[in-house]
Amino acid sequence: MNKGRLIVFSAPSGCGKGTMLKEICRDDNYYFSVSATTREPRNGEVDGVNYRFITHDEFMSLIDSGNMLEYAEYCSNLYGTPLDKVKEELAKGKNVILEIEVVGAMKVRELRPDALFIFAVPPSLKELERRLRDRGTETEEVIQARIAKAKEEIPYASKYDYVIVNDVLEKAVEDFKAVINAESFKAENSAELLEEVIKNA
Ligand code: 5GP
Repeated sequence: MNKGRLIVFSAPSGCGKGTMLKEICRDDNYYFSVSATTREPRNGEVDGVNYRFITHDEFMSLIDSGNMLEYAEYCSNLYGTPLDKVKEELAKGKNVILEIEVVGAMKVRELRPDALFIFAVPPSLKELERRLRDRGTETEEVIQARIAKAKEEIPYASKYDYVIVNDVLEKAVEDFKAVINAESFKAENSAELLEEVIKNA
């Protein structure tokens, strides 16, 4: 069986990447990696589904035991990718999506150069601010911090393999899938297929 592909997906907070991922992960070939975080749950967020909400001490012991693929601090909270589930799902042949910020993404770039890196941007910062306000889950202070963060993050997009604009959700999801599809046809990812072709001569 083919091993799944590790996909790193980043976008500024409020860009709509959560909604995009919900659509993408309806497909059984994809697995959304549930990160661990020390952030408080937002209204409606479920432990083990959106994040594993853990204490600072629990987070530190995951790092100490070598069970974190990467981690980073973002707006005063820690976020990290537990390694066990990622390995397990890749071995099952699933495409595993890490929805992580840019610092963690750059660490994964070093550790796993075979991963695919996709960055989503909003059509404009003005639209990002409107979406953050519409979400209604953050204070004005947090909204301003996240916009400032978006300005820092967007230039990192040039270090990714693909950039997608999330203006209309359906189009952004379609574009994401088109990227994955195109990647699967790359010659460097076709070793197994070519072996089969030759074997069946
Ligand atoms: P939020 O608090 O809006 O859910 O997430 C804040 C930021 O943390 C987002 O940019 C999100 O992509 C990032 N993030 C979520 N999980 C992880 C993770 O496991 N590692 C890293 N490095 N960033 C993460």
